[in-house]
Amino acid sequence: MEAVLGYRPVPRVPAADPCTRPATTMTEPTSPFGSFAIDFGAGEAAPTEAAVSVAAGGGPHETNMLILGSGPAGLTAAIYAARANLAPIVIAGHQPGGQLTITTDVENYPGFPDGIQGPELMERFRAQAERFGTTVVDAEAERVDFSSRPFRVWAAGVEYRAQAVIVATGASALWLGLESEERLRGHGVSACATCDGFFFRDREVAVVGGGDTAFEEALYLTRFASRVHLLHRRDEFRASKIMQARAEANPLVEIHRSVIVEEVLGDEQVTGVRLRSTKTGEVTELPVQGFFLAIGHRPNTAPFEGWLEKDEKGYLVVEHETHSRIEGVFIAGDVHDHRYRQAVTAAGDGCRAAIDAERWLEEHGVVEAVTATAW
Ligand code: NAP
Repeated sequence: MEAVLGYRPVPRVPAADPCTRPATTMTEPTSPFGSFAIDFGAGEAAPTEAAVSVAAGGGPHETNMLILGSGPAGLTAAIYAARANLAPIVIAGHQPGGQLTITTDVENYPGFPDGIQGPELMERFRAQAERFGTTVVDAEAERVDFSSRPFRVWAAGVEYRAQAVIVATGASALWLGLESEERLRGHGVSACATCDGFFFRDREVAVVGGGDTAFEEALYLTRFASRVHLLHRRDEFRASKIMQARAEANPLVEIHRSVIVEEVLGDEQVTGVRLRSTKTGEVTELPVQGFFLAIGHRPNTAPFEGWLEKDEKGYLVVEHETHSRIEGVFIAGDVHDHRYRQAVTAAGDGCRAAIDAERWLEEHGVVEAVTATAW
């Protein structure tokens, strides 16, 4: 079978740099963050006090702006905060770079007409943030104390103190937990139809789930796929009636009720799924080239339990643009946004949170007002 378009392993050797800046070079890996290290040439900031303190170890480390999370929201916030001379510290989280680091081709992020690998895109975000004086710590925020300023956050047992905090810890897609599913992730297995559907033109795909997301993704995939199989473990759906009606009316969607996915089949690429009926126990194989998970996301909110408000779905509640209910604590990206969940919307949100946080710090006399050009 022909390889599935667009699913290529992350290159070990950097591709030619699409930027035209002559001083730009890419070097061999130097960080645990990923396989790329990017030197943007002249203009790197001198080490900030925060960077020197973090490098020295120990703690507590102090900063005006602490950013939790290093996906598009967190690192965009860092770029803006660093360019406003706030010397931010980013606590990268359990998956440095966020969800894009487990995807392959990204073709919907503006500015990359030929697409870019998810890990490389996030390496570029990080390099850009570091260039202006961001300190990134590869650790996970475990606990916070937002009772008074400076706010306190602990990561890997080290304390960080900040005048303002941006929470950009993102959300994690839920997976079935099969070994084959993990092995074939990025090789036909995906948790984002909007990101990867395009690669399955004229191919058969399966979507697992019975909620609105599964139906929405199944319908979206009919733009590309020759057939979309919707697999659900029960015979009743959580999805809204209108979504069910649309799927039932679409000749490209085939709904399979009361089936459990036992295995994703394929060595290098997905070739099918093995299903078991929960009613009869019958085991069948369904040949598909794409397998999409749509069984929900879990926002990464554990450290903020009791401090920040959550909605009925468990996502953080944002008040007045990017503010939380605690003054000086801001929220950006997928940790509150379950509607758009795109890298570009998260990046935009990170920018907004950084601007709001910086203005808030100004209003509270923590930093001097910057001119508009500082942004
Ligand atoms: P969801 O409503 O929680 O549905 C998750 C689905 O995945 C359920 O059908 C569930 O099955 C199934 N599932 C969970 N764990 C599974 C497992 N281990 N194996 C097999 N199946 C499993 O999540 P969602 O669809 O992502 O929606 C989240 C929220 O966003 C919902 O409130 C939804 O209405 C909303 N949303 C709205 C729109 C829209 O309005 N356009 C679009 C997308 C999402 P069971 O039913 O058997 O538990």
